[in-house]
Amino acid sequence: MARKLTPAEDVLLEATRDEAFVATFWKRVARSEDCWTWTGGKSGPYGQLQYRRQRLLAHRFSWTLSARQACPVGHVIRHRCDNPPCVRPDHLELGSIAQNVRDTYDRRRRTTGNPNLGTTRPNAVLNDELVAILRRRARGGQSIRSIANGLELEYTTVLRAIRGIGWPHVSEPPVPSSRKGKPHRGNFVRNNPDVVNQACRLRDQGLSLQQIADRLGITKTAAFRCCRTQTKEAS
Ligand SMILES: [Zn+2]
Repeated sequence: MARKLTPAEDVLLEATRDEAFVATFWKRVARSEDCWTWTGGKSGPYGQLQYRRQRLLAHRFSWTLSARQACPVGHVIRHRCDNPPCVRPDHLELGSIAQNVRDTYDRRRRTTGNPNLGTTRPNAVLNDELVAILRRRARGGQSIRSIANGLELEYTTVLRAIRGIGWPHVSEPPVPSSRKGKPHRGNFVRNNPDVVNQACRLRDQGLSLQQIADRLGITKTAAFRCCRTQTKEAS
């Protein structure tokens, strides 16, 4: 089945067909018995190079070159050797994003001894690319619950990323709730300090709970809770 490639993947494939470029690529690789290390530019821990002004990750380029295909959507190129600058083709493998998220948890457990760190700091599990994927799936109509389950992520982590609580710099825009006029309930309000503040401001202006609820698209109970929360924190 044919699918649309992102511009970056297009350039990546094109670069693998450019023999002169491929030759320069290998000149910047230091081979050893074990890993083949990229000696050129870096992007974080990963090797990076440029082709026609587009930045490519060195290990992705190497994988694409040997696989003769673009990395399928929803997948990442993983290092079997756990060595980011390595570009040796048989050290690279195609993995699902879910697998990569699991790896992140495992690595954190190994390095910090705290397996729960990933759940208390949910943003650390995601990255820009993954946030964009989550938002695209939500826009395509997939439920947050099913996206979260499919990738083995926490529901709230996925919800926040999709709704745009955090991750303001990701080019894929957040997906607003499509509750079709149904007012938001307590959970939404608790996760949105802005709503709480607005509710209190309206309360101070003398609006009734029902008026606040209508104005902010929340239930009357949620509006009541907002004002109560604020009073508690102030006292
Ligand atoms: Zn390696």
